[in-house]
Amino acid sequence: MLVGVDAGVFLSRPNISLGKQDTTSRMFEQKPGLDVYLCAPRGFCAGVSRAVETVELALKTYGAPIYVRHHIVHNRHVIQSLQAKGAIFVEELSEIPDNQARVIFSAHGVPTAVESEATRRGMFIVDASCPLVKKVHREAEAYYKLGYEVVLIGHRGHPEVIGILGQLPAGAITLIVDVAAAKSFSPRSGIKLAYVTQTTLSIYDVAEIVRILEQRFPTITGPRKSDVCYATTNRQSAVKMIAPLVDAIIVIGSPASSNSQRLREVASSEGCARTLLIEDVSQLDWTLLDRTSRLGLTAGASVPELLVERLLDALAERFSLKVETVTTASEDGISFALPKALLTDARGGGAR
Ligand code: SF4
Repeated sequence: MLVGVDAGVFLSRPNISLGKQDTTSRMFEQKPGLDVYLCAPRGFCAGVSRAVETVELALKTYGAPIYVRHHIVHNRHVIQSLQAKGAIFVEELSEIPDNQARVIFSAHGVPTAVESEATRRGMFIVDASCPLVKKVHREAEAYYKLGYEVVLIGHRGHPEVIGILGQLPAGAITLIVDVAAAKSFSPRSGIKLAYVTQTTLSIYDVAEIVRILEQRFPTITGPRKSDVCYATTNRQSAVKMIAPLVDAIIVIGSPASSNSQRLREVASSEGCARTLLIEDVSQLDWTLLDRTSRLGLTAGASVPELLVERLLDALAERFSLKVETVTTASEDGISFALPKALLTDARGGGAR
């Protein structure tokens, strides 16, 4: 296991660089040195932990199979592990047989039409949508009810964006995907405008798009607290801090994971010349490390810590490692309660 250390303190991997004798230590001495700057926070956020625990508790409470609409989080390892326990992942409710009464919604949230369809089919819904995504749903709905024209800053086709757009009637929300779209956007009314954002965007991209919108439409309003969630913000801040210190940065995460993709982009935009997004150590192109003496390492919000540890173990086989954890924020104590109805059933309140 990795030893957590405060910023500024270097330690070798205890089971690798210490305590070995004679020939083994001579072998270690021959390894090139590599300083690893390990971002903290990294990996699982509270919304992902809640979603994964929801599926696990549902399997324990109701038994397999349990149907889950969309990958509960964007991580192949998490999905495979839940599949092995009896979870069945589908993209649409139509793929679920009629005699299956329960469905779990993924952390990304769903359009209201999906919820209505599940209800119409008499399914028991366990909603694992992250509470911070639900917050964006409520904001969009509230602005709409107050007569605002609603703009969503986000990435087209991402399940979270589909879910947010689907909170209001078709066409009610205008999607703004980038700076160019913010510059060319023409409101329908131009009088009352409000914006919300996807939770996993680059905080720097959002700031720039909002700046343009505010410049063009000075009365535009937005959420009091940014929709870009705490986990996205913290992981990007840590990457920003290490980017100027290292020769290369590895982000562990899925290409389908928005927050992982943004971590790589932030690393590049903050001046790191070599950045790599890999799902796990098996995808690492070791030539990336040929001219690397200082390596940054982080993981997206849907990545289990085990994958970070496996990468560090593989690095330690080739390099004499010094690992420094660079901590930019604490997420201690941040957690979200599991869905109430599931908890009731799990505590013996009567399985549906
Ligand atoms: Fe929730 Fe943010 Fe995690 Fe997404 S990244 S699940 S919004 S805490």
